[in-house]
Amino acid sequence: MNVSALSFPRFHNPRVSTQRKGFTSSLQQGQYPQSVDSVRFSSQKQKIDVQMYPMFINGEFVSSKSSPKRAIQVINPADQSVLGTIADATKGDVDQAVKAAKNAFQTWGKTNPHDRAAVLHNIATQIRANAEKLAQLETLNNGKPINESRADVADSARHFDYYAEQAIRDKGEILHVPEDAHSFVKKEPIGVVGQVIPWNYPLMMAAWKLAPALAAGCTVVIKSAEQTPISLLELAKTFKEAGVPPGVINIITGGPNAGKALVNHPDLDKLSFTGSSEVGRAIALAAASNKRWPIPVTLELGGKSPSIVFADADLDTAVNENFFGIMINQGQVCSAGSRILVHRSVYNAFVDKMVQKAKAIRIGPGLDEKTQMGPLISKEHLQKVQGYVALGKKEGARLVTGGEQPQDPALAKGNYLLPTIFADVNPKSRLAQEEIFGPLAAIIPFDTEEEAIQLANGTDYGLAAAIFTKDLARMHRMANQIQAGIVWGNSSQPAYAEGPWGGVKRSGLGREGIDAYQNKKWIHLRLTPNPDWYGAQPASEEK
Ligand code: NAD
Repeated sequence: MNVSALSFPRFHNPRVSTQRKGFTSSLQQGQYPQSVDSVRFSSQKQKIDVQMYPMFINGEFVSSKSSPKRAIQVINPADQSVLGTIADATKGDVDQAVKAAKNAFQTWGKTNPHDRAAVLHNIATQIRANAEKLAQLETLNNGKPINESRADVADSARHFDYYAEQAIRDKGEILHVPEDAHSFVKKEPIGVVGQVIPWNYPLMMAAWKLAPALAAGCTVVIKSAEQTPISLLELAKTFKEAGVPPGVINIITGGPNAGKALVNHPDLDKLSFTGSSEVGRAIALAAASNKRWPIPVTLELGGKSPSIVFADADLDTAVNENFFGIMINQGQVCSAGSRILVHRSVYNAFVDKMVQKAKAIRIGPGLDEKTQMGPLISKEHLQKVQGYVALGKKEGARLVTGGEQPQDPALAKGNYLLPTIFADVNPKSRLAQEEIFGPLAAIIPFDTEEEAIQLANGTDYGLAAAIFTKDLARMHRMANQIQAGIVWGNSSQPAYAEGPWGGVKRSGLGREGIDAYQNKKWIHLRLTPNPDWYGAQPASEEK
């Protein structure tokens, strides 16, 4: 299947070579792969220039003001080929993008919601029209199996459609106050928003953030993750046709330095971040210390989500859902059910079935239709996850499957790791407490409902939780007591635009949604004059 050319204007950086660890891309000068197949390695160490992905500012693809020395390579995690380079946006780039967003806000913020809705629906239409290309680029860049990318692309389109409807249906409030007044609440867009997203769902995370912000009437400067800039830039090529006015969506590229330049920009009115809990804290500080005044912030952060399997649960459903819940997207999911708590009476059977599934999974490049698990995002991240495998063994957990890279020589260049399952994990150990963000499950037995709750709530995180039981009363009892922003019953990982996504404790602050991008203005209009508070005293008090 061919992916048509990413024909960005040729922002070409002749000083950046594709050379990386002895491999060389076969891409020709100024060329992005005409097809996915064209991304191939050659063993010759020749210098070949590659595509420099531009940024998207004020409706145009523009090159960065940054030095080519600050360029960042974009790597295919399945084989380390260099897909191109991006600029690490500078303060100057961010200034330009924020200025464009500020200008655009003067108009977009006052646009009729029906007109905003039409643009959002158009973006959804463009996503669907380019769905296969976007999915293939997502897989090429992120590594995930192609059917997962297709699902992400479909979800991204749904988000734009959903928030198009929200823009129209959104309402203020009439207040029944105890005086003769017309008192009401009107909602207004907050203004210019800075958004920063991670690499695990590149297009989807962008959609989750852009759609509600645009629906509310805000304008945006968004920074994609340095590892995965491609799909969002590809989508930006359709913005003009979708009727997105220049400056309403601005995309900057780069890593933490570009992110810092963005979140510390004094002209932003709101920050929205999805990423790790550590960086989330820095973003909250940036919001609090904005040079003009503190600005609001939404944080969607990490997790160590529990999944609790009771003895009465349908065992096969529990195994299927739990395996999916930790292995989908190579386990690189904020809400992954990474701590699986299983009632002791079904514990061994559950572990055995999980191992069987792990052994049957097909690992390979995401573009292969047969692949069920792709490579992790980067060599560095693979090493981090492997570090947890070593730690788990050291901490005395029982490695029941995986923990190693696949033996297949065809996969030697990719960041692959076999699905990894540890049983008998000490709930206080680091394996059970820290976010690993890989295909690694920690299984822990329990005996009573009270113990299950204690274990479930026994980490600093609170993003999601899953409960598997046929006992509805118990399901409700558990759901009420669990410290998490999201609770799933007899399933793992459903996510819909309709459901408020986010966590408590170390997992986040606030929720995405149209109201996250609005200020409420209370307007109170007295209809008849008030009696004078300082006027004549009541007759009974007159002497
Ligand atoms: P990360 O925090 O390292 O990076 C996220 C983004 O922040 C990237 O774009 C990065 O360039 C940028 N960044 C890094 N340092 C910055 C700084 N000091 N200032 C401004 N920007 C900065 O996270 P990651 O490794 O890309 O993603 C994985 C993390 O994201 C996991 O912890 C995962 O749980 C979390 N996540 C959460 C959700 C959610 O909805 N709660 C969804 C997806 C991912």
